[in-house]
Amino acid sequence: MNFQKARDRMVETQLISRGIKDPRVLEAMRKVPRHMFVDEALQEQAYSDHPMPIGDKQTISQPYIVALMTETLQLKGDEKVLEIGTGSGYQAAILGELAERVFSIERYPNLAYRANQVLQKLGYKNVIVRVADGTIGWPDEAPFDAIMVTAGAPRVPQPLVDQLAMGGRLVVPVGDRISQELILVKRVPEGIQKTNLGGVRFVDLVGKWGWQE
Ligand code: SAH
Repeated sequence: MNFQKARDRMVETQLISRGIKDPRVLEAMRKVPRHMFVDEALQEQAYSDHPMPIGDKQTISQPYIVALMTETLQLKGDEKVLEIGTGSGYQAAILGELAERVFSIERYPNLAYRANQVLQKLGYKNVIVRVADGTIGWPDEAPFDAIMVTAGAPRVPQPLVDQLAMGGRLVVPVGDRISQELILVKRVPEGIQKTNLGGVRFVDLVGKWGWQE
């Protein structure tokens, strides 16, 4: 299988056709080898238009959702970014292409370990993975210019809002355990601005400011 061709086709038919425009996001999606972040047996499906299992009942998001959430953060290249829910590490790699430094938190040690292995192999020296409860953020590294939560939360975790830099953006799926709305939270001089970007489905964000196990 020609993976580069599969990625180019994915960008045309799944992203551009649905309105993703940021040229840097499209470029990153053409570049990052998504198939490297899934089991070998599933590699040929890695560029299909759906989420995929990555172990521990977790999933890597559909390419369009990755692109949409990434575009929402409006990254230019000099940002410090926090991701909650490393999972396979694919989203972290996309962020690594688009920002200066990426801090990613995963609660399952074996997922974090595997993600880190792939990220190192691919040379993402600007991405750091840690095992912890991401709902409390990463206070030692705050503030962040952008924060992305890739698991569904019952409400916007307040520590993440507190760790946003002025002008910073936080994107987080908020709702019940079946479906959520994608919420963009922006820190502006007047306070906090919230925008609803539409319906999504994510696995649970489990932690102090998320769901209880
Ligand atoms: N962004 C990932 C997919 C995320 S799936 C990718 O690109 O592959 C959601 C992930 O969030 C799962 O791996 C799950 O274990 C993790 N997660 C759930 N609650 C968490 C928490 N409180 N802190 C850190 N990670 C969490």
